[in-house]
Amino acid sequence: METGSPKTNRAKLESWLSYYEDLGINLFYSDRIRQQFVTEPAPPDSAERMSKQPQDNTREITGPADLNSATHSRTEPPKLQVVQRGPSLFEAADRVQGDSLQRICSDLAGCTRCKLHRKRTNVVFGVGNPQADLVFVGEGPGHDEDIQGLPFVGRAGQLLNQMIVAMGLTREQVYIANVVKCRPPENRTPEKDEIATCLPFLMRQLAEINPKVVVCLGSVAAQALLNTNKSISHFRGQWFEFRGAKLIATYHPAYLLRNPHAKPEVWADLKKVMALLGLTSPRTKR
Ligand code: URA
Repeated sequence: METGSPKTNRAKLESWLSYYEDLGINLFYSDRIRQQFVTEPAPPDSAERMSKQPQDNTREITGPADLNSATHSRTEPPKLQVVQRGPSLFEAADRVQGDSLQRICSDLAGCTRCKLHRKRTNVVFGVGNPQADLVFVGEGPGHDEDIQGLPFVGRAGQLLNQMIVAMGLTREQVYIANVVKCRPPENRTPEKDEIATCLPFLMRQLAEINPKVVVCLGSVAAQALLNTNKSISHFRGQWFEFRGAKLIATYHPAYLLRNPHAKPEVWADLKKVMALLGLTSPRTKR
């Protein structure tokens, strides 16, 4: 890149500034800068934002003076009426009119949208009760899932089944899906572009099922749904608002197979889910 001497740069900058001043643009920017740096608190990171979302879907809008009472203190801003907030642009973009699980499944049939299609045997769509109160979301199919076309049917799946039964439920009562629907080669972690390509289909599945609780199994699912890069240890076991449902992240059953000492933490998370759904463990049933 060409860089001039400080003197020439200064001259260039001065000429730009006077050009913008001629256009009357400087006022616009100084206003924006004041609002941004004086009145707006730093945006929280996305995981925090989720946990702090207001429960009701309304907010009160006041005039701009409300944003900075120190600089606009003379007149009280007129209060505008309370407006109903619709789904965010991102949520709205995921919605498909007249959608159904069947339609999502057929949209995924023979999918070649990302490179994972090259080595997969089957697209693993999801399985379970289409009206489930509880949805488990994993990372992506492994070898057994790829062969059978069903999620969580290998060793990790057997442990998930035990977890479900311990919660007083059956596999048929819940819904189980993954972030990516095709097996990543050698069970590697799905890559960003693969997740980005497949995530809208999971979002559509969740919108159709409309569960009360979403349990993210492992960091890939949690990071994808909460749109964060934070490690799962920062937010495991915490409740988040997620598109009208409650979302909680816990460790992946495959992690538990390697680290059985983490089972009590996962059980503690599942007990929170049970409490929210009013479930009793068969162990405590008489
Ligand atoms: N691990 C996952 O994340 N999903 C499956 O379906 C199986 C194993």
